[in-house]
Amino acid sequence: FRRAAAGVRGGVERTFIALKPDGTQRGLLGDVIKRFEQKGYKLVAIKAIVPSRALAEKHYEDLKTRPFFKGLVSYMTSGAAPVIAMVWEGKDVIRQGRRLIGATNPLEAQPGTIRGDYCISVGRNIIHGSDSFESAEKEISLWFGKSEVYDWQYGNAEWLYADN
Ligand code: UDP
Ligand code: MG
Repeated sequence: FRRAAAGVRGGVERTFIALKPDGTQRGLLGDVIKRFEQKGYKLVAIKAIVPSRALAEKHYEDLKTRPFFKGLVSYMTSGAAPVIAMVWEGKDVIRQGRRLIGATNPLEAQPGTIRGDYCISVGRNIIHGSDSFESAEKEISLWFGKSEVYDWQYGNAEWLYADN
């Protein structure tokens, strides 16, 4: 295992993935975990959390001028079900995580992607994934303390990774 060095893109990385309250409410956690696991990615942090308004606003701060921002924050913070916050690790996992999740608008998301298979509305699109190395670093440190993220190896990692 080589720890993802800051600035290395496409190598072994970590990304922040969150099942949103609608995904939790609809019982989709198992399938989401399954898709990342079966690809070969490794779960290094997970917790159920109802984010504070401050956390949700910071998480989505780039969108604060958008008309849907207020509704987005109340959806994330409602507490009708917790967000399931996760960190997944593996080669190119930031970009590949976005591919597994699919397009923001579920009606544009390909069948076979998580959003393509499980939802209809952009405002209830069930899952979040970091969109860049910088967002991943920001989001992981926002949602998790250092001691909540684990370094561990799959015993069969040599069957997932060759030298290239
Ligand atoms: N969103 C929305 N209406 C829009 C665009 C986005 O409600 O027109 C919500 C949706 O839940 C989306 C989130 O805001 O997942 C963040 O938007 P972003 O463009 O970052 O999409 P994502 O990165 O989640 O695909
Ligand atoms: Mg985004």
